[in-house]
Amino acid sequence: MKTTATVLSHMGSPGPFAESEPLVRTELELDRPGEGELLVAVQAAGLCHSDLSVITGQRPRAMPMALGHEASGEVVEAGSADSAFSPGDQVILTFMPACGECRFCRSGRPALCEPGAAANHEGTLLSGAIRLHDDDGKPVHHHLGVSAFSDHIVVSERSAVKVPGRLDPEIAALFGCAVLTGAGAVFNTAASALPAQSVAIFGLGGVGLAALLAARAQGAEQIIAVDRVGSKLELARELGATDTVNATAESSGGGATDVRIKEMTGGGVELALETVGNEHVLAQAYAATGRGGMTVTAGLPYPDRMLQIPAISLVAEERTLKGSYLGSSVPSRDIPRFIEMFRDGELPVDRLLSDTLAPDQINRGFDRLASGEAVRQVVSF
Ligand SMILES: [Zn+2]
Ligand SMILES: [Zn+2]
Repeated sequence: MKTTATVLSHMGSPGPFAESEPLVRTELELDRPGEGELLVAVQAAGLCHSDLSVITGQRPRAMPMALGHEASGEVVEAGSADSAFSPGDQVILTFMPACGECRFCRSGRPALCEPGAAANHEGTLLSGAIRLHDDDGKPVHHHLGVSAFSDHIVVSERSAVKVPGRLDPEIAALFGCAVLTGAGAVFNTAASALPAQSVAIFGLGGVGLAALLAARAQGAEQIIAVDRVGSKLELARELGATDTVNATAESSGGGATDVRIKEMTGGGVELALETVGNEHVLAQAYAATGRGGMTVTAGLPYPDRMLQIPAISLVAEERTLKGSYLGSSVPSRDIPRFIEMFRDGELPVDRLLSDTLAPDQINRGFDRLASGEAVRQVVSF
């Protein structure tokens, strides 16, 4: 069948993207779903920094590639006769398909699935298949097994989680990446540090603000939000931050962010979360924790960057530094759990949704994401 996807043919186009137009809406041939795969009608897809870092070339991927990875949709057809999915099921798609069989999947850490990571690196579905082709029959790669900025997609069942009941499609999409990554970083990766009375969040995009909501839900009394964009600091306050630090002030003589946080907390926070993907910000987040504190990082810096921290502090102050991929989540367990928290009002993730775009506004949307203007923009299909 035909689908219209959003294709990136080469990385590294200069901004503004509204002018260079790196993403092109393209009609492609979409194969039928194979065994263990689903044909899904996409309803909504979010614009995320992981898409942006492919556009800029920061995280190189196989080209051409149909982008997008944070999405919700409706199952049209299952490739397997005995599938657990049925036409009409509302699903949320996640960016790491889990094979269920490798040593990481078997030990409850599907975010580290080795075949899943290999498929994502190659730009294929989990099975190794590529279901998208151009008019000449040439393959167009899948982005993180999803290729969400398309009206129809074929995905592995291992990339999909059924929504219990029904959710607004635009809100449902956020659970696939921003909420799973941000709330998962708190509830899963930082589990041994909870409850944490004092938490600092570095970077207030979709992931950072989801982490902030989770920090509040687990009962933090003091939540310090750090960013360079004033409007995001304001939103963080509305969502429960008790203090804010504008990191721009540091370069204009306002004092180092970590020193200010240590002053505010009388020695440093119990838990710091870094979502920017910058080694200097990560070092600062680490420095903002106190004795016994934990730092969790969910940002992806450039691959060649090194981190410098005082080595002795790990032992002498029993501090911890942990990485968090996909929020260390088990999506089939955590998406329903976070949806329930949303419905109970404990995790108001609808507040992260800043704009709804039409499919032909995606390039402009990435300009807004790159400039820090927008938190989470969702394309409606
Ligand atoms: Zn993402
Ligand atoms: Zn696996």
